Amino acid sequence: MPNPKQITERYFQSPSKYIQGPSAIKNAALYLEKLGKKPLLACDSNVFNIAGKSLLTTLESHGFQITHVEFAGESSAQEIDRMVGLGEGCDFVIGMGGGKTMDTAKAVASKLNLSVAILPTTASTDAPCSALSVIYTPNGEFERYAFFHANPDVVLVDTTVIARAPARFLAAGMGDAIATNVEAKLCKNSINFGGGLQTEVASAIGNKCEEVLLKYGKLAYEANKVQAVTPAFEAVVEANTLMSGLGFESGGLAAAHAIHNGFTAIPSLHHLLHGEKVAFGTVAQLILIGAPSAELDVYLSFMLSVDLPITFAQLGIPDVSDDEIRRVAKLSCAPGETIWNMQDPVTEELVFGAIKGADAAGRAYIARVGKSA
Ligand SMILES: [Zn+2]
Repeated sequence: MPNPKQITERYFQSPSKYIQGPSAIKNAALYLEKLGKKPLLACDSNVFNIAGKSLLTTLESHGFQITHVEFAGESSAQEIDRMVGLGEGCDFVIGMGGGKTMDTAKAVASKLNLSVAILPTTASTDAPCSALSVIYTPNGEFERYAFFHANPDVVLVDTTVIARAPARFLAAGMGDAIATNVEAKLCKNSINFGGGLQTEVASAIGNKCEEVLLKYGKLAYEANKVQAVTPAFEAVVEANTLMSGLGFESGGLAAAHAIHNGFTAIPSLHHLLHGEKVAFGTVAQLILIGAPSAELDVYLSFMLSVDLPITFAQLGIPDVSDDEIRRVAKLSCAPGETIWNMQDPVTEELVFGAIKGADAAGRAYIARVGKSA
C-alpha cells in the first residue's frame, strides 16, 4: 500500500546551493565561508592526494582552520561515531569523495548539529544532494537509510576533478541516474523521502535527467576517457548529481533500488559500484512491470553503450544460483523497502522471476544487436 496514511500534500526539497564547473574548487572559500571557518574535512587518503590537498591549500590561504580526518571506507555506524568524536570544536563538516564518504559526512554533521558541504570527486551516485544517507554494515551490506532534517548546505562539483576519475564511475552514476525516472514514474501515489507526494517539478526533473542521459550519456563517457570537460560531460555530471538527486528524493524510489539493496547481500558483487547494480535493478524493474520490448530496448541499448551490466555474466556472477537470487528477492521485499511504493503487484516470487527475466532479456538483446550497441 503506497500511501496508507492518505497524505495529500506535495513535498519538494533540495540542497541550499549547488555549484558546478571546471576548477570550481579554486573558489571554494567563497562558497564555504558562510558555513564557518573551522571545518572537519572527511576524505580518504586517495581523494586527499587527488583533490583534498588543493582544497586545504586554498581554504587555509583564506584563514580556514581545517581538521582533516581520513575516511576508513565504509559508511557504517561505527565510522560515523568515530568521526563525530573527532569533530568536537569544528563549526561545519566537509565531505569530499565518493558516495560513502558523502553519506558518512552528512550523518556526522547531523549528529553534531552542524552544516555540511559536499564536494564529490566522482559523479558516480546521486548521494551529494539528498538529506539521507545509506548506512552499511562494516562488511558492506545494506543496513538502513538514515534521514536528516536538512539537505546539504552547499554542493560544490569541480568538473575538472570529476573528469580525472575513471569513466567507469561516470557510467555508474548514469546507472543510478537512469533509474530515477523509471522509478519515480511508479511512485505517483506514494510518499517520497520528504514525506509527501511528488510535485510536478520533481517529475519534470526525472524526465529531464533521462533525456540528458539518452542524449549525451555515450558522448560524456567517451569524453571522460580522455579527461575532457565538454558540454556533454557537464550535462551528464549535472544529470547524475543534481537531477538524479532531486529526482529520486522528491520523486521516490521503487524496485530498482530495492533489488540493488538485495544484491548487496551477495559478497561476490561487493566490487561493483552502486550504480552498476542499480542499472541491472532497473532492467529487472522494467521486467517486473511488464514493459514492452521497444521500451526495454531503449534502456538496454543505453546501458550497453556505457558498459553498464545487463546480464549476470556482466555483473560477474555467471553461475549465480536460484537460491542466491531468491535471497536477493527476499531482501528486496523486506518490510519498508522502496519496492512497496509501487502500485503493481509485488511478491518475492515475482521479483525472483523479474531478476532472472532481466538476465535473459539482457542476453537476448546482446545476441540480437551484438555487444557494442
Ligand atoms: Zn542510488
